[in-house]
Amino acid sequence: MAVSGADTDKKLFLAAPRGYCAGVDRAVVTVEKALEAYGAPVYVRKQIVHNRHVVETLEERGAIFVDELDEVPDDALVVFSAHGVSPQVKNEAANRGLRTIDATCPLVTKVHHEAKRFANDDTQILLIGHAGHEEVEGTTGEAPENITLVQTPEDVDGLQLDPDRPVAWLSQTTLSVDETVETVDRIRQLHPQLINPPSDDICYATQNRQHAVKQMAPKCDLVIVVGSKNSSNTGRLVEVALESGAKASYRVDNAGEIKESWLDGVDSIGVTSGASVPETLVRGVLDLLTSKGWPQAEEETLIEESLSFALPPQLRKRRTAAR
Ligand code: SF4
Repeated sequence: MAVSGADTDKKLFLAAPRGYCAGVDRAVVTVEKALEAYGAPVYVRKQIVHNRHVVETLEERGAIFVDELDEVPDDALVVFSAHGVSPQVKNEAANRGLRTIDATCPLVTKVHHEAKRFANDDTQILLIGHAGHEEVEGTTGEAPENITLVQTPEDVDGLQLDPDRPVAWLSQTTLSVDETVETVDRIRQLHPQLINPPSDDICYATQNRQHAVKQMAPKCDLVIVVGSKNSSNTGRLVEVALESGAKASYRVDNAGEIKESWLDGVDSIGVTSGASVPETLVRGVLDLLTSKGWPQAEEETLIEESLSFALPPQLRKRRTAAR
């Protein structure tokens, strides 16, 4: 239904799936339930998910976000973020006797298990990912002697590997699917015996959001991606939109960051959001656009998602006990 005054020559598209994935939902609910069950403050190591709005909302409710465990008092409860932590961090928490709840996404934990299994076979592991990302730091910590980080296809040429030991690749869960394929192809040219991960490391949510943008972008003069600057999967959505035919694409944390000049001469806009973005922020963008005369958004659903993960065991027990 067109809003009164909407410009019928213009098109507004909304990609689906978008926004919250199962791992983000579980991590955010974990902090909310921990606050309910144990009371504030609840410490969280690193941002629970990479979204400014989510972090600020949880801070208002009593969560305290820290970079490292040495900022957490001895008797406190600390939650590990969705991106996962290295065994060294878990050991440090255990040695200090901290109470912990691990909100690592189970799909990140799966990659940790793969790293450990390959390392047990003395396999050299090429981890495709971004330096400094918390997920990469956590996965690397599982087998630091065996893992070499590969950030781009160009990195592959400089690799110095032991020709007598097997080589496998793993990846960060939130990468560009196409760029990762390119990197793996390049590795395989040099190491034809390259071992694949047992299953896709780039998670279902990353893949679905990228495929939905690929479908939408060719029709769009502009694609607006809602998400925070430090969200890896959000950044990839902007890249995928541009590679797939959008004339322009910008990331915004919220509607307030949309610049008037972006809309000049634009007849079609697509909107999507990263996996850590609450739907309310997307609605804010759509409301802003309709207030400027854009029609109601046409939602294009690539696939329905139904995956959900159980909460960490500490919260499951408490919920059961409370019944
Ligand atoms: S993006 Fe994928 S790996 Fe990351 S939290 Fe969501 S489901 Fe888990």
